[in-house]
Amino acid sequence: NFRCRSAFKLLEIDDKFRLLQPGFSVVDCGAAPGAWSQVAVHRVNSAGTDPAAPPGTVVGIDLLHIPPLDGAHFLSCHDVTVPPTHAKLLELLPGGQAHVILSDMAPNASGFREMDHVKLITMCFTLLDLAEKILLPGGSLLCKYLDGILAHELQEKLSRVFNSVQTLKPNASRKDSAERYFLARIYKKPEK
Ligand code: SAM
Repeated sequence: NFRCRSAFKLLEIDDKFRLLQPGFSVVDCGAAPGAWSQVAVHRVNSAGTDPAAPPGTVVGIDLLHIPPLDGAHFLSCHDVTVPPTHAKLLELLPGGQAHVILSDMAPNASGFREMDHVKLITMCFTLLDLAEKILLPGGSLLCKYLDGILAHELQEKLSRVFNSVQTLKPNASRKDSAERYFLARIYKKPEK
């Protein structure tokens, strides 16, 4: 039983790309009400359900309250885009590191497509700062965006620090929405 239908988008992507493996540490950005975290807890074994597999870690963050979930640690009422939240994540993750950053964040819809697009892409840019602090070399980032003029800029920024970047439109995502996901894989720390 998932808390939200969005779970099916992550299941579809993960069935294909196997991002979430037992023992992995995962950060779920924009986690409320917690459906993606449910998928992540199951796949990385962070509730220790499979005693034969290594236990992973799931940390979810949202501006809203996220109801508790066995196997996940939630930072409710936290803004993913600001450095103090990054500092808390560093403390919560084993060794301060994550294998995967997931982001299904979305701004409150303004009704103006262009404005929502710019707002979400701007939020996605901050995920690159977060990645620099916590993402393991070889790690992955999956982030939702709304298609529009700045999408190529985000793709280009991702391509500088990941070996592979692709655009995904899961079948579970409404056909008529501008919603897309960038899947960026094989992280390389940016050169200073
Ligand atoms: N993946 C979630 C699930 O499966 O339950 C659904 C996520 S919902 C589409 C988008 C969430 O992003 C909202 O709960 C919203 O509060 C959150 N959000 C938007 N901006 C945020 C920010 N700056 N920091 C943290 N969360 C944010």
